[in-house]
Amino acid sequence: MTVSIGIDVGGTKILAVRIEDDEVVAQELFSTPGKDMVGSAVAAVRELWTDDVSSVGAGVAGLVRFVDGVFVWGPHVPGSNVPVREVLEREFNVPAVVDNDANAAAWAELQLGAAQGRNDVLLVTLGTGIGGAVIADGDVYRGSSFAGEWGHMHYQANGLQCDCGKRGCWETVASGPALARIGREFNALNPEGQLAQRLRQGDFTAETITRAADAGDETARGLVSQVGAAFGQGLCSLIAIFDPEMIVVGGGLGSVGESLLGPARRVAADALHGGSHRPLPPIVVAGLGPESGAIGAALLSQERLARAS
Ligand SMILES: [Zn+2]
Repeated sequence: MTVSIGIDVGGTKILAVRIEDDEVVAQELFSTPGKDMVGSAVAAVRELWTDDVSSVGAGVAGLVRFVDGVFVWGPHVPGSNVPVREVLEREFNVPAVVDNDANAAAWAELQLGAAQGRNDVLLVTLGTGIGGAVIADGDVYRGSSFAGEWGHMHYQANGLQCDCGKRGCWETVASGPALARIGREFNALNPEGQLAQRLRQGDFTAETITRAADAGDETARGLVSQVGAAFGQGLCSLIAIFDPEMIVVGGGLGSVGESLLGPARRVAADALHGGSHRPLPPIVVAGLGPESGAIGAALLSQERLARAS
């Protein structure tokens, strides 16, 4: 039996899992105090540590250099050029891997989730922003280091300000904050509308709008559909570039399902190059929940062990 610990390091939380072979046997969620990301990561691993653990993996939100496990930079996680892998290996004295969180999640989906048995897959995470990962020929494709940051694909000239500091990125129109923004804009124009009455004034978050849509509110469904359409528009570009067998959609907003993915599929099919001569690849909701990044990080560390032996 191979015992591994995987952690998923986000801007406000670290999720840690302990896996035995490919089964999750324990997990714990930690809030990350202050600016010491690597210290928090070490503390999270230590909580699930026992002496039979043979490898440790970490998925970190942001730009990560897989080859030496350095967290280079990210808009939501503190620090830059942090040698996370070196610190983990020194602290725990077992092989460690450190990868981008979406790469780790994609690896988990390939091994245990919606993409099992596939070779060429894109993972697109839709939440606060859009993240992603490329599985090419059964392996994670990282480019020279940072492939899959397509939330910052240029979508609109002179578009909205993005968290990354640039303008017009895809995630400014397709993300949780984008849904909340168009909800607020719609409300400003229709302050007496049904949606405004349903939601308390000022309570226009992605979550409240998707909940109203699920409850059958037509306006809310229209807003979700509008974000779905912008999402599909970008997916169409990804399909033209990668021609994947399947697109797996993860993240909080991605898990909304058909009310968002239906419009996304329709727009992607309409806009797809050669669309009448090729099928649209399946666009499906991720099979694993929010633990996928931590699970994938642990599995990647097992993979490293297996390759080394
Ligand atoms: Zn951006």
